[in-house]
Amino acid sequence: MTLAADPNSEQYCPRLGHVVTLAYCVREGIDRPCRLVFRCWEGRLPIREHLLTLYKESEIEMIDAPASKLSSILDIIARAQGTSEEPDAGSGT
Ligand code: SF4
Repeated sequence: MTLAADPNSEQYCPRLGHVVTLAYCVREGIDRPCRLVFRCWEGRLPIREHLLTLYKESEIEMIDAPASKLSSILDIIARAQGTSEEPDAGSGT
């Protein structure tokens, strides 16, 4: 049996520069937790189990997944390349 995580547990937030509660971290994005929630809380309390009380497994898998970061970077690069490779519509002479 795992003890429930206390939503009033506190942690220094490296992003905000002050102490925040677990309740804040798990709802930082209103409908999603902070992307660093595992890094900040793992080892201190059963963060995955706590998140499963609030989110679906598939939603939790999206948090800070290395593949999603890589995908984001690749998307940004692709968009930038697409922008620079667009035909120059104003130079048609
Ligand atoms: S999980 Fe996010 S909001 Fe919470 S302490 Fe870490 S960086 Fe700050």
